[in-house]
Formats: sequence, structure tokens, C-alpha cells
Amino acid sequence: MILVTGGAGYIGSHTVILLIEAGYDIVIFDNFSNASLTAHQRVEQIVGETIPLVKGDIRNKEDLEKLFTDYDINSVIHFAGLKAVGESVEQPLKYYDNNVVGTLTLCEVMQAHGCKSIIFSSSATVYGDPETTPITEDFPLSATNPYGRSKLMIEEILRDLYVSDPTWQVILLRYFNPVGAHISGDIGEDPSGIPNNLMPFIAQTAVGKRESLSVFGDDYDTIDGTGVRDYIHVMDLAEGHVKALNILHTIGKVMTINLGTGKGYSVLEMIKAFEDASGKKVPYHIAPRRAGDIATCYADAQYAKNVLGWSATRGIEVMCIDTWRWQSQNPNGYKEN
Ligand code: NAD
Ligand code: UDP
Repeated sequence: MILVTGGAGYIGSHTVILLIEAGYDIVIFDNFSNASLTAHQRVEQIVGETIPLVKGDIRNKEDLEKLFTDYDINSVIHFAGLKAVGESVEQPLKYYDNNVVGTLTLCEVMQAHGCKSIIFSSSATVYGDPETTPITEDFPLSATNPYGRSKLMIEEILRDLYVSDPTWQVILLRYFNPVGAHISGDIGEDPSGIPNNLMPFIAQTAVGKRESLSVFGDDYDTIDGTGVRDYIHVMDLAEGHVKALNILHTIGKVMTINLGTGKGYSVLEMIKAFEDASGKKVPYHIAPRRAGDIATCYADAQYAKNVLGWSATRGIEVMCIDTWRWQSQNPNGYKEN
């Protein structure tokens, strides 16, 4: 059985659908600090079956002990974590506790129960401000905020664990910028409060919930002066996890894999693509640069293709169309409309 921590969240819920469709037995473990039970219920509707769900916290050893006793878990896909960069700067201890201590506790309980196979949600943020693009997995690592540092620390902890005991099987997946939603429009990204990320902010502006998008800087050394990122459809990302799970028990080293498309789009290109997909105007204004932002970030996606036989297939149009379907059908996310 596969344990999916954080499986009620944005990327987790989409991945759960594909895991079930691929025939995996799973159990979800989530503390609902950033998730909704409605999302889980809709996932169950989509797959047409009940999916075991345990409410609990990865920092709570008793919760995990019970989970590993009640279920015969042989692998873990570990999504659970906090992810807001700005909040991590204001509350670093909360982030280190939740992400780092939580992962330590999870690994301890896994080890105690003889389960040593884990896929970890890392991030392209561990590349800091890369000197060149595209970014390959062997680029130097650095972090510019506590969120990124928590990812870097966890990567290092998992590498140390493997060195101490090579029967561990570890895949570190470094995501670029996940966007989009399931094709049904029933599940998607539902940020609490004002969105920090570009795509949900664009979507909420298009649907009329926000007046105008602040474009953070138009004087970067990029195609049109605005920041360039590698946006990847969440269903492509989900497929990458299924592929990773398929090889997890055969690998003989810690594998670190970029999950991106290999293409970068600017903020203005994203606005235009979203307007085309939605038929709505996205009012925007140029604002100062956001502290800590970099000009350009996109993946070299070749290694994922070589080792997983995976590459992203959904382009920017599909990303925008699917985001719009979710946003327009659920203007208030999972809250009652
Ligand atoms: P999300 O917030 O939607 O999902 C995370 C889930 O983990 C939530 O359901 C939350 O309730 C749960 N959770 C948090 N702390 C927990 C704890 N202590 N115990 C149990 N459950 C807990 O975020 P997401 O976008 O789905 O991201 C999933 C993972 O991918 C995270 O680790 C995130 O850092 C990483 N990641 C996300 C992005 C992105 O832009 N979305 C990019 C790179 C990496
Ligand atoms: N961005 C923006 N306005 C927003 C949010 C983001 O102009 O309201 C820009 C941001 O400066 C970056 C890009 O959009 O160039 C992607 O930002 P996001 O926060 O989504 O991802 P990250 O910065 O973590 O790659």
C-alpha cells in the first residue's frame, strides 16, 4: 500500500486520481491545515470509489505509529508541507517544525516499520538564483528563504539516510511551477486568502474576484522584462509521480529529478494566454519587483525523460483552459458558492 501524505492538497489530490487509476492501493494522511474535505470527496467521485483517509499530523509520532500499524505501507509519496514563501520568512520556526521536523518524524516511523521507500516533493527553489538556464539537476544548490531551506535540508537528510543505510529508496522530485487543474473542473488549486502565486491570481482576476494583477517588475533581462518561469500542468506532474513510483523499488541510488516542461513563459505571456483561453480581460499594472524573485527559471527536462520515460505533454493553452474551467465553475474554490 502507498501512503500519500498531504494527499488532500493541490498536487496530492490530482496525483491520487492517477494512482487509483493505475491500480495502486493508497491511504491518504493529511492534517487539513491547507486542504478541504470537499476536495477529497470530489476525488472519490471522479474515481468512483472510497479512498482511505486518515486525519493526522506528520509531526505526531503516535498518529504515524497508528497509521503504520493499521495499514501495510510499503512506500510513501510525501507531499505534506507548508509552502508559502512569504509566510516562511515571517514564521521560520513554523516552517522548520512542520516541514523538517515533520519529515524527520515520518522517516523515523517509516524506518521502525521497515518501510524505506520515499518520493519527496522538492522544488526548483533549491537552485536559488541559477547562473544559467535551462537548469540541470547537478546545478549548485542554495536557498534564499526558510521555505527553500526546509526543502534543501530535507533533501540532505534523505541523502544522509541513504548513506547510512542503502536499502532506503529515495526519489527527490524538484517541481517547477505547478498550475492547471483536473479536466473535470471539479478539483484545482484553492489558495486561502490572497494568492501568492501568479496563476491563481490571474484566474481570480479573470473571474472578477480581484481588481488588477500586480506584475512584479518589468525590467528583468527577459523577453519582455517580466519574470520567466517553467509552468507545468498539475496532471503532468501527477503522471511524473506515477512513473517515479513505478521505478522506486528498482533504484540503487538517491535519484534527483526535475519535473518541468523545459520551456519558460513570461508573466505577460501568461496573462495573454489566459485571456485567450478564458475570453476574459485580465487587468494588470506594473508594480515593483518582489523581494527574492529571480529573472528566469526553467528546467532541463531531459533526465526525467531518460530515467522515467516521462515528459510533460500539456501546453500553456491546456494549462490555462483547465485552470479557467476550475475557477469559473468554482469561483470561491471549495467554499460554498
Ligand atoms: P498544498 O498545501 O495544497 O498541499 C499540502 C498538503 O499537506 C495540504 O493538504 C496540507 O493540509 C498538508 N499538510 C501540511 N502540513 C502537514 C502536516 N504537518 N501533517 C499532515 N499534513 C500536512 O500544497 P501543494 O501545492 O499540493 O504542494 C505539495 C508539496 O509540493 C509541498 O511539499 C510543497 O512544498 C511542494 N511544492 C509545491 C509547489 C507549488 O508551487 N505548489 C512547488 C514545488 C514544491
Ligand atoms: N508574479 C507577478 N504577480 C503576482 C505573482 C507572481 O508578477 O501576483 C510573477 C513573479 O514575480 C514571477 C512569476 O510571476 O516572475 C511566478 O511567480 P510565482 O509566485 O507564481 O512562482 P515563483 O516565483 O515561486 O516561481
